[in-house]
Amino acid sequence: MNTLLHFLISFIIIEIVFGDAKSYILLIILFSMLVDLDHIPYLINVKKNVFKRKFGAESRSFLHELLGLSIFSLIICILFFFISLRLLQIISLCILLHFSLDFLFGITRPLYPISNKRSRIFSS
Ligand SMILES: [Zn+2]
Repeated sequence: MNTLLHFLISFIIIEIVFGDAKSYILLIILFSMLVDLDHIPYLINVKKNVFKRKFGAESRSFLHELLGLSIFSLIICILFFFISLRLLQIISLCILLHFSLDFLFGITRPLYPISNKRSRIFSS
């Protein structure tokens, strides 16, 4: 899914849930797009061929799969002791929405790097 779309969906959901998304816009930008930073090494590798190859499952590192979700979940659990509950709710909602949308509408390798098998739930 498109990185900008991740931001827009997170912004809308946070506005619906908390009613004050504008106050947290930098946090929403950062954490709705954070997971997609692993596309950068892929972009550097494919360079000009990126429009032919698009952003398939191979453009994602293990941080974009179930292992990454586990790591982000652990970090969020640790952050629970250090930051306010509202910030933690927004951060976790942004990350959860990102993973959910990618798993629901993209082609993923859920068990990567253990298995390279691709799966798709819905097509976008
Ligand atoms: Zn993503």
